[in-house]
Amino acid sequence: MSETPDLTEIELDSEWMCRGRLIHARRDIVRLPNGHTSDREYLVHPGAAVILPVFDNGDIMLERQYRYPLRREFIEVPAGKLDPAESAEACAHRELIEETGYRAGDLKFLFEFYPAIGYCDEKMYFFLARNLEHVGHERDHDEFLEILRIPFVEALDMIRTGHICETKTVTALFWWDKFRSGQWTL
Ligand SMILES: [Mg+2]
Repeated sequence: MSETPDLTEIELDSEWMCRGRLIHARRDIVRLPNGHTSDREYLVHPGAAVILPVFDNGDIMLERQYRYPLRREFIEVPAGKLDPAESAEACAHRELIEETGYRAGDLKFLFEFYPAIGYCDEKMYFFLARNLEHVGHERDHDEFLEILRIPFVEALDMIRTGHICETKTVTALFWWDKFRSGQWTL
């Protein structure tokens, strides 16, 4: 029986490259499995809650947002960063109300995933939001977005046609497709 090789890289040194308002980046020196050293640069992220809001008739709620780094708009599920010491569930609840103006009567944790493992330690916690009640949004002063209500099948087709092409949104819709079709159970 062959032994599983240990691929662990050991931190030898670590320093901040950048500490901006949003972007925090570190550069570490690591010892590689073969004993050599190398450097690893990565973004440090507090984690985020991602929410797929589903209306009673099966329609889903998406957002249209301008994303400055790509200089274009994207259609996305609601999401936001965890505040210090905030639970993922509390963050999901808060972000949904802040961004969309809807409160979820039923918020269910589904899974967690890592959107950018090559250069970022961000972890995303994914929630399904149902029993939606409109209570009014509380957006940040620099946050502009349009709320869209779309039949699920139409949203899924927007992946095929390239109109939805952003990682957390594609992931969310494919997961929900498995659950709503009964292939996977909650
Ligand atoms: Mg957001």
